[in-house]
Amino acid sequence: MVNLKINGIDVSVPEGSTILEAARAAGIRIPTLCYMKEINAIGACRICMVEVKGARSMVAACVYPVAEGMEVTTDSDKVIAARKTTLELILSDHNRSCLSCSRNLNCELQALSKEYGCDATRFSGAVTETEKDLSTDYLVRDNSKCILCRRCVAACKAQEVSVIGAVNRGFSTQIACAFGEDLAHSPCVACGQCINVCPTGALHEKEEIDDVKAALADPEKVVIVACAPAVRAGIGEEFGYPVGTNVEGKLVTALKRLGFDKVFDVNFAADMTIMEEATELIERIEEGGKLPLITSCSPGWIRYMEFYYPELIGNVSSCKSPQQMFGALVKTYYAEKNDIDPKNIFVVSIMPCVAKKFEKTRDYENASGYPDIDASLTTRELAKLIKEKGIMFNLLPDGQMDNPMGEFSGAGVIFGATGGVMEAALRTAVEKITGETIGKLDFTEVRGTAGIKEACYAVGGMNVKVAVASGLSNAKELCEKIKKGEADYQFVEIMCCPGGCVNGGGQPILDTYTRREVDYKALRAKALYDEDQAKTIRKSHENPVVKDIYEHYLGKPGSHKAHEILHTKYVKRKKYE
Ligand code: SF4
Ligand code: SF4
Ligand code: SF4
Repeated sequence: MVNLKINGIDVSVPEGSTILEAARAAGIRIPTLCYMKEINAIGACRICMVEVKGARSMVAACVYPVAEGMEVTTDSDKVIAARKTTLELILSDHNRSCLSCSRNLNCELQALSKEYGCDATRFSGAVTETEKDLSTDYLVRDNSKCILCRRCVAACKAQEVSVIGAVNRGFSTQIACAFGEDLAHSPCVACGQCINVCPTGALHEKEEIDDVKAALADPEKVVIVACAPAVRAGIGEEFGYPVGTNVEGKLVTALKRLGFDKVFDVNFAADMTIMEEATELIERIEEGGKLPLITSCSPGWIRYMEFYYPELIGNVSSCKSPQQMFGALVKTYYAEKNDIDPKNIFVVSIMPCVAKKFEKTRDYENASGYPDIDASLTTRELAKLIKEKGIMFNLLPDGQMDNPMGEFSGAGVIFGATGGVMEAALRTAVEKITGETIGKLDFTEVRGTAGIKEACYAVGGMNVKVAVASGLSNAKELCEKIKKGEADYQFVEIMCCPGGCVNGGGQPILDTYTRREVDYKALRAKALYDEDQAKTIRKSHENPVVKDIYEHYLGKPGSHKAHEILHTKYVKRKKYE
């Protein structure tokens, strides 16, 4: 341990700690902008400057290591003045359109400017020329609001994608893709993790709120909405609820008040996914098909696989994601049952994800002849719409989903957490393989936020070895093993975002302090596991609506009709085409 004083307070921290970590241990907050625990400690923004007795100049607390007997001051007039000047210099080259900015009231630059009483116009002069990158269907980069903190670059690198970096030098420095390409022509996988870590409004999803409002106002349209599992565990944060609060009931009421004709649930389609995917797994095991079977629910993972591991296309399940299965069934099964022309149905999905915006535009995602999904809003966009309509979310009574496609099992709910798809699939596959009812429904070995989890289960006289990865660096590790023939798994779940969809690129943005100090992925996941535990039906194959659809419409899981409606195809993608 190393002993030092910070603002006169004695503190002992492990050798190798930084001043920032030591201050945290002493209950002292040092502000940061570029710093992100574990992935971005570069001392670039100079907001965390502190005085160290005997040092020739101030030092950046996020990178400066502690030493025995060190005396640190974090709150002197000199320190405060230095931080204020740094902020004012950043603001001098910043598009300060706070009132119309996507991050107004949730911007770390804005919050620090307020805290330090900054004069945004103190310095004036040249301003860096920038252009918005509007090239993709899912993400907008507005470098006029970029403060060059490089947190997005670090997040993209942590995802093993690294399509963005600093280009040019000095005052002309900007964050951009290589070769002057726009994002749409780079091998970006659309994970949106860069958005979640950006402290300002430089990055945000491409909004589809106006499309949804237009559909709701169109008397010809039957507008149907459904939320992904992780949304109910995240959206409460936008309305002041603690991280990990499940607000499903209020969410349903809010959607009804927004005017949607039917409020269904993507959890229902997650149950359908399990029926199809478990069938595919059993067929491959019994008939000697390509193993391991790898899940296909995460469009960010699918895009990554298509760019970086196309040789694994044959391993990936042909099942559409729950979002796409949902839209496909609404426009076929539900449309036929209720005698509605699918052309007049507008399906809105609410997703914790920005890659879903890309996924709905893919080929082979239009079972009815019309796109399975018409608009995909992030959790953040839905919160924005609810606020705009003056709906007092916190005061809403709990509502009930509509039938039939609002019926779901506990297995469908846990899709939102890493390991959830695996556990849901095992609950069904084990019963289908053995023909027996399983007593233990909790496959706890595949739960938790570890990047890679492995387990082996004895099922009907054989050992089924499984692996779960979340975050693309972990996915890469598994893909390499599979590619080299070093893995003997039968089934692999891969989710693009670290921790799974609860930490998707469309979830509420948490400030850097909360991201650092709160285990938000585990808390949001717990909200889903608690809901699963409380459900009477916890296996996808016991969902009565799922049974009815197979009995009266699709035939059986894996049938020709099920394949036509619920399955898709993948393509090998070239980088920088
Ligand atoms: S990024 Fe922050 S400081 Fe800049 S315009 Fe948006 S809200 Fe204001
Ligand atoms: S969306 Fe993901 S892959 Fe694309 S730039 Fe952002 S972090 Fe990188
Ligand atoms: S886009 Fe955001 S995260 Fe990336 S460097 Fe700019 S301000 Fe930082």
